Amino acid sequence: MNAKAVPVLMYHHVAPRPGLVTVKPQTFAAHMERLARAGYTTLTADRFLAWMQGRVDVPHKSVLVTFDDGYLDNYVHAYPTLKRFGLHAVVFLVTGWIGDGPVRPNADGNEDLPDLPSHKACKQAIAEDRADDAMLRWSEIELMESDGTIEFHSHTHTHVRWDELHANASTRLDALRHDLAQSRDTLRQRLGRESRHLCWPWGHYDTGYQTLAREFGFDAQYTVERGLNLPGDDPLHIKRIDTKERPAGWLARQLFTYRSPRLGRTYLALRGR
Ligand SMILES: [Zn+2]
Repeated sequence: MNAKAVPVLMYHHVAPRPGLVTVKPQTFAAHMERLARAGYTTLTADRFLAWMQGRVDVPHKSVLVTFDDGYLDNYVHAYPTLKRFGLHAVVFLVTGWIGDGPVRPNADGNEDLPDLPSHKACKQAIAEDRADDAMLRWSEIELMESDGTIEFHSHTHTHVRWDELHANASTRLDALRHDLAQSRDTLRQRLGRESRHLCWPWGHYDTGYQTLAREFGFDAQYTVERGLNLPGDDPLHIKRIDTKERPAGWLARQLFTYRSPRLGRTYLALRGR
């Protein structure tokens, strides 16, 4: 039976230090175990897009698991967990923050794990030109893609608020154009393929941004708006569910709600959306 609605989950950090956009490794493992045990299919981004466009059917219980920014902890903790349960996820990379160097230890091995800064400390590291302390490396990204566990797409090259940097609309769009070209070209060079999937930084975009991003081949654009994704919906407005440091039962209820158009609509109406 084809899915009536497909929930898209949004994670940022999977790390021991607590934070608003951080899920602890054991909580993430509980979330993924629940997905696997409940029989969810974790889609690839292209299959999800094809389903939204009404071109393919996907199983009744389907979900898209996404991560924003591309933090080192995604490799250290999320990747081994996803692999263990045979699940698939998507990471939206800020391509300008990713560096080079050898693959670091992760929770799959017995070596000491790298220090994983808090979300705030990650921001600080990026601001001080020490992004490598906080973010993934291309070697780690290649490894995670090579076994099909995680695929990587764009979260722009610089993750800035162009509206705050440029009051003039045409200057703003020029800056965004430059950024999207860099992000697209970096993914093309590093991963040897095109990406059609873009996640907007800070959840900020307008129709001008969307049109421009489409010109760069980003046919699927992801927001931070909570809601239902139905076949035939506009793939430039993909809705996501922000995950929290909550038990697997909470996640199961979210998925149950957002894979039912009727329940999802009722729930969103109650929340005033
Ligand atoms: Zn972000």
